[in-house]
Amino acid sequence: MEQAVNRKRAVVIGGGITGLTACYRLMQQAQADNLPLDVMLLEASDRLGGVIATRHEACPGPRSGDSLLLEEGPDCFLATKPWGIELCDELGLNAEFIGTATEHRQSFIVRRGKLVPVPQGFYLMAPGSLWPFVTTRAFSWPGKLRMALDLVLPRRASEDDESLADFVTRRLGREALDRMAQPMVGGIYTADPRHLSMQATMPQFLDMERRHRSLILALRHRQASAQQPGVSGARYGLFASFRHGMQTLVDALADHLPAGTVHLQTPVRSLRRNPGSQRWIVSPQNGPNLEADALCLALTAPQTARLLTGLDPELAAGLRDIPYASSAVVTLACNRADIAHSLNGMGFVVPAVEQRNLIACSFSSIKFAGRAPDGKVLLRAFVGGALQQEQALWPDARLRDAVLQDLRLLLGLTGTPTLCHVSRHPSAMPQYHVGHLARVQHLEAAARRWPGLALAGNAYHGVGVPDCIRSGDEAAHRILSNLFCEAAGDNCLQRRAVPC
Ligand SMILES: Cc1cc2nc3c(=O)[nH]c(=O)nc-3n(C[C@H](O)[C@H](O)[C@H](O)COP(=O)(O)OP(=O)(O)OC[C@H]3O[C@@H](n4cnc5c(N)ncnc54)[C@H](O)[C@@H]3O)c2cc1C
Repeated sequence: MEQAVNRKRAVVIGGGITGLTACYRLMQQAQADNLPLDVMLLEASDRLGGVIATRHEACPGPRSGDSLLLEEGPDCFLATKPWGIELCDELGLNAEFIGTATEHRQSFIVRRGKLVPVPQGFYLMAPGSLWPFVTTRAFSWPGKLRMALDLVLPRRASEDDESLADFVTRRLGREALDRMAQPMVGGIYTADPRHLSMQATMPQFLDMERRHRSLILALRHRQASAQQPGVSGARYGLFASFRHGMQTLVDALADHLPAGTVHLQTPVRSLRRNPGSQRWIVSPQNGPNLEADALCLALTAPQTARLLTGLDPELAAGLRDIPYASSAVVTLACNRADIAHSLNGMGFVVPAVEQRNLIACSFSSIKFAGRAPDGKVLLRAFVGGALQQEQALWPDARLRDAVLQDLRLLLGLTGTPTLCHVSRHPSAMPQYHVGHLARVQHLEAAARRWPGLALAGNAYHGVGVPDCIRSGDEAAHRILSNLFCEAAGDNCLQRRAVPC
């Protein structure tokens, strides 16, 4: 894999959404600015997308041609974080967008084996509307009174990071933590609230306390401002997805890459520096070494650590300090007639104190229209996470039985699902523990000592798809700046597309 004199080569390792974004941005900027850059993407598996994977399954039943759309990983992304929507606009995917079904924008929480609606105006851990909070069955009266104390409690003096558990119990009490914040916030990160960093995951709540003292007052203020004329919400509701599933984004990115850029089934075994040329030597497991001027490692932290161990043991050890949790998604296609519950929402979350097998379940074909034929319902059950790691490793049959047992109780499911699909995500979700931001700052400073090296992915500044897109984008800009701006000096500042 030799290259022409004077041309530079950047290699992206990992073909998930982060690596694909980095690769696309490198290509696109190189073309826009006529930069002498070749880009390669090396992916270990036989497909692109990483955790993102959409399956189209024939729906078992008498009617031929009916199909089901299953998401094995993420099924949507936050539209309020701009990086996802902006990239989709750029890729021309607007016509493919779908939002969540407007008539079902509520969700449920399990309390004593029953589904209770999350009170209107409630935002992850605190109420923003008075009456729905007063009348909800989601909390006991003593629990509600303790939460109301937030209205008078002073703000915290210290600026040190604290855990979700400490923050919520301090402001809103133990019941708010066990019954709402743990399943809602902990659920997003599949995390243990005793360790989850507030600064890294929920800075908006710290800001509310700083500015308004009380979270309840801050949320009421926020809702009042949102209702003012001229203040609009996200274009697609809070969450956006694609008519044909999340793989649409992966495929669109791949389609924008020139032929020969992507190398599938090319796991990278090791990295080192060529002491003569000062270039990187990338060693794939099953092919010749190749040299690169810049590298983007778009992998999980442990995968990145494995590649850097021989080169920078300290950086590798720091990366290994970011723990990851495993989870499994069990998708079931059921006859609508076999479910007693009205399914008038997007799904439900299960507090750990309920001691169930499930941590959450989406009513997938209700949340997004067109994912199952009439008369069928797709349910997406989540198992595992930091608090129930071992469940994610159970064999398929045991996992399916455990999920069915919970769904029979919670949704009144009878009969046998016509399809059951298990997707596993071992060590896929990083755990942002208290002190995460400082840890990442330290790691990034250490990585900057290696010329042309960019770390990207969900380990650092956010786990969601838009965060990963931003991370890939930033890695590309860092590489371009490193390869072309530093050499060009001031001239580079005149270039429009490459910010130094
Ligand atoms: C079950 C689940 C549900 C989720 N739901 C949502 C959601 O609804 N909304 C949302 O915004 N986010 C969600 N997330 C989070 C989000 O999907 C992920 O954080 C994001 O997709 C990670 O992308 P990535 O490219 O950084 O990593 P990955 O997708 O893990 O990609 C890394 C790639 O690197 C490859 N690789 C690994 N080692 C090597 C090597 N040595 N050489 C070459 N290639 C290698 C892997 O094969 C993989 O393709 C969810 C995550 C999970 C696990």
